[in-house]
Order: sequence, then C-alpha cells, then structure tokens
Amino acid sequence: MVAEGRVIKFYGGFCYVMVDGAVKECLPRRRLVTAGLLVGDRVKVGAAEAGRCVVEAVLPRRTVLFRPPVANVELAVLVFSIRDPQPNFGLLDRLLVVSQAAGIEALVCFNKLDLARDTPPAEVAVYRAVGYRVILTSALSGEGVTALRDALADRISVFAGPSGAGKSSLLNAIQPGLRLRTGEISHKTRRGRHTTRVVELLPLTGGGLVADTPGFTQLDLPDIPAAELAAYFPEIAAASAGCRFNDCLHVQEPACAVRRAVEEGTVALFRYRNYLSFLRELKEKERRF
Ligand code: GDP
Ligand code: ZN
Repeated sequence: MVAEGRVIKFYGGFCYVMVDGAVKECLPRRRLVTAGLLVGDRVKVGAAEAGRCVVEAVLPRRTVLFRPPVANVELAVLVFSIRDPQPNFGLLDRLLVVSQAAGIEALVCFNKLDLARDTPPAEVAVYRAVGYRVILTSALSGEGVTALRDALADRISVFAGPSGAGKSSLLNAIQPGLRLRTGEISHKTRRGRHTTRVVELLPLTGGGLVADTPGFTQLDLPDIPAAELAAYFPEIAAASAGCRFNDCLHVQEPACAVRRAVEEGTVALFRYRNYLSFLRELKEKERRF
C-alpha cells in the first residue's frame, strides 16, 4: 500500500501525516530526515513496519518558507489592524515583496473594522487598485470572517503581520480553539540530535491547513537585484513602460514615467516612497557583498 499524504507536524521523533483526512503516526526514512523533511511536504507513505507507517518519499515542493520552516505554503494572510495599532504600510509593502519573491500569493487583511467603520483608511483603495486582494475584517463582530475562511479553504496558509493586529483572534473567529503560537519555540527530538523550531499545520474544518506560527518573522528583503524591485510593485512596473531609459530605477533619471505618475497621482506617493526606501536597502546590500 502506498498512499499520498501531507506532513502536518513532527513530534517525539515521529512524523504525523494526513492521509485522506486521517492523521497517521509515521516514521520517516532516515535519508529524508537528513535531507530536511518539512511540515507541509507532500509525501508517499508505505505500509506499516513494526506497527508504524513509513514515509518513503517526498514529492517536489512548490514553495519553501524558512521562518517558520514550511513547504508548499500557497497563501500568506497579511494582517494589519486599521486602528490600535495603526497599520504600518512600510511593513505591509515589505511583506508583499517577500511573499511574491517566495512565490506565495498574498491576501491583505485589514482587521478591527469595528473600530473604524466610518473611516477606513484611504490606502485600502490603493492596494485594491494595484490588484492585491484586500479584505476588511473584525474578529470581534465577525465581519469578513466568512470571506477569510473561504480564502483559506483547500490550501496551506500562514498568517503574518505585527503582533496585536489580531491574527490569533481571526483564527479563533474562523474556528474556535485555533490559536497562533508566538515566540521562539524549540523542541528536542527524541533522538536528541537536533533542536528544531516546532511548527504545526492545523487542519481547518472548511478544508485547508494553517501554520500555527506567524510567517515571515524575518524582515529582511529577499535577495533580488535592485533593478528588479519595480517588478514587485505592479503599478510602478506598469508605469515604467513609459520611462526613457530601459534601466531606469525611477529615482533621479530624466523622463521617468514613474515619477510623472507619482506627480499625477496614478502611483500613490506612499508606495513610491516605500519603493525608494527598499531600493536604497537593496543597493546597500549589493555594496556590502
Ligand atoms: P496577534 O498578536 O496578531 O495574534 O493579535 P491578537 O489576536 O492577540 O489580538 C490583539 C488584541 O486585539 C487583543 O486584545 C484582541 O482582543 C484585539 N482584537 C483582535 N481582533 C480585533 C477586532 O477585530 N476588533 C477589536 N476591537 N479588537 C480586536
Ligand atoms: Zn523611471
């Protein structure tokens, strides 16, 4: 018997694999452990040996996250509260770049709608116009929770965003009892060889799996060449078609269509400023290495 399944957690030297909706306690082949089997991996599970199913092989990964270590994440839910605390759009834009570089779709979730129903931030419309999926939610009133639950169905997701934004409360609103673990959690495996960060995928009753640890906890920009940064700002990439120079970085160059678009208001100034600040950061990194 060989079945296909999904690794959802490691515990006590065992690997827990979800096969057709049921969780099986398995032992992975040693070479797979050495190669770095991850939560989220799709695996082939063979017949039981000495009472345990055996993980025989890993199927190719579509994405890999390192913090937390999870394979095959498809969706990053970027949670920011509209108020208390105010959203940090620099951090949001950074998370959007990081998600895109990792090949992971982003869903922007502005939470605590109940605190600012009459004054949703103008930036919401900007992100929608750029083409990002944006939802407004309140974990307190339940608004937007169905839309969020639907977005999580049948895929692996991670929640990301500053602490206090309501990530844990939203998960709990989606499915009572679900909570995010925070802080650095370590766990010694039974074999005692490694201490690994524990991350677990939580099955949702509506289908889908959610990491129980917030994603993208490192805030470094990905290693992309400065010249490619514009591709991570869709509206800037679109406007750049009109720049005089092919290698225009949209800083000081003459006849730059991006700067013109900012002056005309078709590219939002706060997005352009975040682009410039990330550009400086990437150039700084290029100088250092
Ligand atoms: P996390 O750090 O992102 O996981 O945030 P939490 O879920 O722990 O929430 C932080 C605080 O915001 C808690 O006091 C929550 O009760 C509160 N909170 C979360 N969601 C909402 C919401 O939609 N509306 C309001 N008014 N408060 C919320
Ligand atoms: Zn330009």
